[in-house]
Amino acid sequence: MNLATLTSDQLLSETKIIVTEERRMTAKLIEHLTEINQRHLFLKLGYSSLFEFVTKELGLSEGATQRRIQSMRLMQDLPETRQAYENGSLSLSNAAKLQSHFQAIKKSGVPKTIEEKKAIAKSAENKSQSECDQMLFGLAPELPKPEKARMLSPTVRELKFSISEDLFKKIARLKGLLSHSHPNATLAELMELLVTNHLTKLEKAKGLQPLRVQKCDESNSGETCENPKTPHVKAGKTDKNNLVHTAAKSLPIGIRVALPNAMKQQVWNNANGRCEYEYRGRRCSSRYQLEIDHVHPLALGGSNELSNLKLKCKRHNGFAAIQTLGFAKMSSFRK
Ligand SMILES: [Zn+2]
Repeated sequence: MNLATLTSDQLLSETKIIVTEERRMTAKLIEHLTEINQRHLFLKLGYSSLFEFVTKELGLSEGATQRRIQSMRLMQDLPETRQAYENGSLSLSNAAKLQSHFQAIKKSGVPKTIEEKKAIAKSAENKSQSECDQMLFGLAPELPKPEKARMLSPTVRELKFSISEDLFKKIARLKGLLSHSHPNATLAELMELLVTNHLTKLEKAKGLQPLRVQKCDESNSGETCENPKTPHVKAGKTDKNNLVHTAAKSLPIGIRVALPNAMKQQVWNNANGRCEYEYRGRRCSSRYQLEIDHVHPLALGGSNELSNLKLKCKRHNGFAAIQTLGFAKMSSFRK
């Protein structure tokens, strides 16, 4: 269609039809994401979260993904908000803001009832983003603002979060104490110093080797590049077959026992501190809530030997257990 041939009225009319259709398709996408989430399909495909699946598999931006997933949760909780979105009275951004607000309220220990949520959601209709922000702030001014992490370049992120006045004063005091060794340290430099020190301490206390990092331009079988300027540090190769294997031999088969620390460290080091779940060559990249999984479950006679142990994120560990033992069996373990 040559748009130049349309009258202005026709052009406006066509545009409004497209906007309505776009909202309808987005609502349909959210419906599909709900089903994918309920089936845990993203876990099967090797993603640790629905967020990771949508950004990497479907190619949506982080912001677009966050808005759709938060809106999905809101629509599950308050189905009437889907209609409000489709008819244009509730924007996707405001739906996501409402859900983040309800989550923060719940975290604070005094969750809203469904009726209260419905009333707040109704109040957010036909409001701009800024008006919605003001309304939600007025309802709970004590709540911390949602944290944001925006990608500025492949190696730089912009973080945005609020802190208490008390923490701000502590930072000022720390800057004073570090003023000789780190004059005029910025907040980012302070954070780098504190995080690196804490990480080093924790890794030492847990006996873990530093994580291997890979260059962007190298083939790495799914490894995530964390710092393209840092050369690889090979780890977890030398003592694979002596220290831990010796410890494993004395561990009983089919019985849950506390694994020796050396063995846990070896599993961690072999996996480079990342979830080892794989599906069709795609490895989960999660470093969050990692657990040791028995590939052949103890309940089915599996052993505690190193060859039967894998590092998995909590979600993939649970997913593997449900696949092997069945949902009903796992539910009874968790009661
Ligand atoms: Zn995982």
